Amino acid sequence: MVDVREVRKHFGHIEVLKSVDLAVQPGEVCCLLGRSGSGKSTLLRCINQLESIDAGEIFVAGERIGYEEKRGKLHPLSDRAVARQRRSIGMVFQRFNLFSHMTALDNIIESPTGVLRTSRSTAKARALELLDRVGLADRADHYPRQLSGGQQQRVAIARALAMDPAVMLFDEPTSALDPELVGDVLGVMRDLAADGMTMVVVTHEIGFAREVADTVVFLDGGEVVERGAASEVLTAPEHASTQAFLSRVL
Ligand code: ATP
Ligand code: MG
Repeated sequence: MVDVREVRKHFGHIEVLKSVDLAVQPGEVCCLLGRSGSGKSTLLRCINQLESIDAGEIFVAGERIGYEEKRGKLHPLSDRAVARQRRSIGMVFQRFNLFSHMTALDNIIESPTGVLRTSRSTAKARALELLDRVGLADRADHYPRQLSGGQQQRVAIARALAMDPAVMLFDEPTSALDPELVGDVLGVMRDLAADGMTMVVVTHEIGFAREVADTVVFLDGGEVVERGAASEVLTAPEHASTQAFLSRVL
């Protein structure tokens, strides 16, 4: 479902991704771990075309990201085609990024009605379903400031789901939350995984990774230093930097 091949990315002189490969099968949950600055967010941002790549290729749901092949050559996609591709990729950030002047419901229906031209009544019915799914059926008319951080993050998840994405990318979705709010957000993500959503999750929640992830990929200095079944990598890491990382976060 997600296929990243030999992707390189520089910022100035620094090579932030050094030929990274990542393969996530349909319905799989892949947790991306690694210390600060190892390139986790950059990798997600490349998959979602918030950053361009310098080399390599990325496919999502079988479609090449950012380029089209014509007569054996790659040409950058038009802005419109990029926007279309980005719609099939849901992204949830550390900060909730909700529109503060819109209710929870209006945040969720904004893209379906504005971009997909779904009728307001259809979008609204679906949004209410999604709010129910994230445990916020009674908060549809609340504004972000009237919601806790954990509730806002669950609205952000519902908003991403409203576009029926092929894959969901999460970049440290719980690290800005007070500890008592983390569990509800992880619970929603656990349910999503159980429903078969393909997910790439950057997280420091090792308990979540252990319980929910199928595979774990460990980045260090822009390189994949270890990958494998979550049960193996998290219990018996082989690489020294993985061992050091896990001993710090556990
Ligand atoms: P964290 O756990 O702190 O979120 P990360 O693994 O997500 O870290 P990235 O945000 O991907 O790391 O950053 C990787 C490297 O790229 C860092 O050295 C960072 O300073 C650098 N970097 C990221 N974005 C930019 C940018 N827009 N311009 C220049 N350098 C950047
Ligand atoms: Mg990051």
